[in-house]
Amino acid sequence: MPTDDPQARRPRAAAAAARSPGASPRPPVSKGPVEVELRAVVGMPAEPVAGTVAILGRPNVGKSTLLNQIVGQKLAIVSPKPQTTRNRILGIWNGGAGQMVFVDTPGVHPARSALNRYMVDEAMGAVEGVEAALLVVEPPDSSAAVKVAPAERQILDALGRSRTPVVLVINKVDTLADKTSLIPVLEAWNAIASFAALIPVSARRGSGVRDIVIELARLLPVGKPLFDAELLTDRTERFLVGELIREQLFLELRQELPYATAVLIDNWEERAERGDVVIDATIVVERDSQKVIVLGKGGAMIKDIGTRARHEVDELLGRPAHLRLFVKVAPEWTSSTTDVARMGYRS
Ligand code: GDP
Ligand code: MG
Repeated sequence: MPTDDPQARRPRAAAAAARSPGASPRPPVSKGPVEVELRAVVGMPAEPVAGTVAILGRPNVGKSTLLNQIVGQKLAIVSPKPQTTRNRILGIWNGGAGQMVFVDTPGVHPARSALNRYMVDEAMGAVEGVEAALLVVEPPDSSAAVKVAPAERQILDALGRSRTPVVLVINKVDTLADKTSLIPVLEAWNAIASFAALIPVSARRGSGVRDIVIELARLLPVGKPLFDAELLTDRTERFLVGELIREQLFLELRQELPYATAVLIDNWEERAERGDVVIDATIVVERDSQKVIVLGKGGAMIKDIGTRARHEVDELLGRPAHLRLFVKVAPEWTSSTTDVARMGYRS
């Protein structure tokens, strides 16, 4: 049966490994979700909770890393460059405490282009209809005092208007040589707004992440799961594959070039007899000069991007993938609302 557009489901580890013999040199990204049983949550009714939780903050603070760490699966792409994430992505956590539906969002920032305005709208739109929110921030430079950035103020005001409880997550604490420096930082944040909790974590290493889930189990209402327990995200495999290609563009290309790119999946062919999949995708850029860079000398750059993305795609799909990448120019597409929508960025 060709499954050309299913939503991504929890992988059955053994089956996935068997179908993907030696396809990827990388260790599996799936570690399974953070585990929290009801009895870990002091003061909880003995019934499972269910609810939606927005992950909000400025660009590059580690929101996507946090989502992946909580659900134990790489759903959202991550790069050292700000504004890697462009759409909302749901990651569904299931555990003894119930079901929590996390919404990863693009970073909130001053937006000028049509694409950036779409991204900020995606993020701020996530405030509606959630039962709780995580505001993710980084520790300030040791000497600097805690300051609320305009984007954080905008997020806090919107959450205040909808009376959504907010947990402040101070991420990247692994970068602090002296953990006691966190105490005045926590005190300063505590004076800024009325947070349900303040939790220092390292999303990259996973430390403190379980405390977030425990806190949310206290905040979310008792209820029936919103999604089938097998489902990992609302996004299709097709979308996630496009994202994995885009991640390589963010990791491999320098300066502003990644911001001028989009990825379209043109064709998806499941080959049942071979147990693999052939995927054609187009990388869209804004100018001919950018196309030259993406192709690289003798096609070296696009080959490299394809190889790296394929390893990730194999891992995601649990079966070998063949990627065929093409490059196309769509002049100044990031400036036009219509073109931005054409690249898949529409609400
Ligand atoms: P987002 O833009 O908020 O989604 O941030 P990302 O998840 O894409 O992460 C941005 C950068 O911060 C990447 O280079 C991550 O590897 C890095 N990062 C995320 N979490 C941590 C952390 O806990 N510690 C450190 N040192 N780096 C982190
Ligand atoms: Mg992100």
